[in-house]
Formats: sequence, structure tokens, C-alpha cells
Amino acid sequence: MRFKVNEIFHSIQGEGTRAGRTCVFVRLTGCPLRCVYCDTAYAFFDGAIMELEEIVAEVKRRLGPPRKGPDAPFVELTGGEPLAIQGAPELLRAMQSLGCEVAVETAGSHDIALVPHEVIKIMDRKTPGSGEGHRWLESNLDHMVPGQDELKFVIMDKDDYEWSKAWCAERSVWDRYTVLFSPVHGDLDPVWLAESILKDSLPVRFQIQLHKLIWGADRSGV
Ligand code: SF4
Repeated sequence: MRFKVNEIFHSIQGEGTRAGRTCVFVRLTGCPLRCVYCDTAYAFFDGAIMELEEIVAEVKRRLGPPRKGPDAPFVELTGGEPLAIQGAPELLRAMQSLGCEVAVETAGSHDIALVPHEVIKIMDRKTPGSGEGHRWLESNLDHMVPGQDELKFVIMDKDDYEWSKAWCAERSVWDRYTVLFSPVHGDLDPVWLAESILKDSLPVRFQIQLHKLIWGADRSGV
């Protein structure tokens, strides 16, 4: 089984509940979405073909010796939109065979039913401001694992914030999953978002893209 791989790199996880942990990222090439703020457009077309076994061997090499514990290195499949790529569930299963935690970052636009149960699904619920909010597959909520999987909202402006808040409240998703509210880097003032969350006492987790604070917004491979 072969995949077009944009990059494999070892870095600090910048987002979600695992922010700050070391992580090996596998970025597959290709995405059918076109979010207005996309920061990985370089992964739409460019990449090299790799066999599944080659990818897993490279991940293993970069992970280093197996480690245990809550902050052990882990691996994340990302994109582009990795679940738009045929064979992604098999690749995730192969990564699980390495014995580390495995996560997938997805826009929730493609069916997650075949993603292994233990793979941590970080679902980026696209807001109206992204221009791709209509791509969401509502049935994906039925396959998310409470207490394990995460819902992320990348918020562009006040309208996006109000929309995200209402969407979560209608479904009470914050009773089951970690809900992450993140400002679009360079577009929404993080102070405004943090203070809005506090004012509204929302049961969500504020996040900021840590890797952009460390290395700057334009650097790839980190
Ligand atoms: S889903 Fe991700 S990779 Fe695709 S256009 Fe949106 S932000 Fe970019």
C-alpha cells in the first residue's frame, strides 16, 4: 500500500490536550477543502510516494526507543486531510503496532467509522468563517470516543465564536469531549477569545498554536 507523503518530522505538538509533548508528524499530501486561513497549502499537491512499511519504519526511527508514561512521544497523522486518502485507516493501524499513542487530525468532512477506536481523533469542526463549514459530517459524532477524542474550533471572529458556542450548546458536546477554542493566528486577538470564554464561563479549553510561538508562523516541518 502506497501513500503520497508531504513530510515526516519530529517536533513539539502545538495543539490540543497533548500540546508540549514530543510528536512525530506524518503529513499526507492532498486536501479537498480550501479553508480561507489554511496554513498548510504546501501539502495540497507536493509529496513523495512511500510504501506503508517505509512510513512506519521512518516513524519508528524518529520516535526513538519505546517509552511509557503520560508524556511519552506519540505519532500524529495529519495533512491536508488524511482521511480523504484511501488506506488511511490501515496506515493508522500500522502505526499503532509501534506501541505508542496514535492521533489523527481531521476536518470531520470524511467518515471516521473505519478509524480504529483507540486512535485519538482530533476533529476540526470547520466554522462558517473558514468557508468550509458545510463539509461537516454530522454522523461522525456517533463514532467519536467520549473522554478520548477532541473537537476543535478555529475561530476567525466574533460571529464564529457565537456560532461555535451555539453549536456546542445544542449538542452538549462539551459534556462528552474536550472542546478546544483556538483563534485564527493573526486574525483574531487571543486576548479577546480568552476573555470571552471567561465571561461566558464556557466549559472549553483555550488553545493557541504553540509551535507558531516557538518557531514563527511561516516555518514548515515543525
Ligand atoms: S482542511 Fe486543513 S489542510 Fe485542508 S484546507 Fe482546511 S486547513 Fe488547509
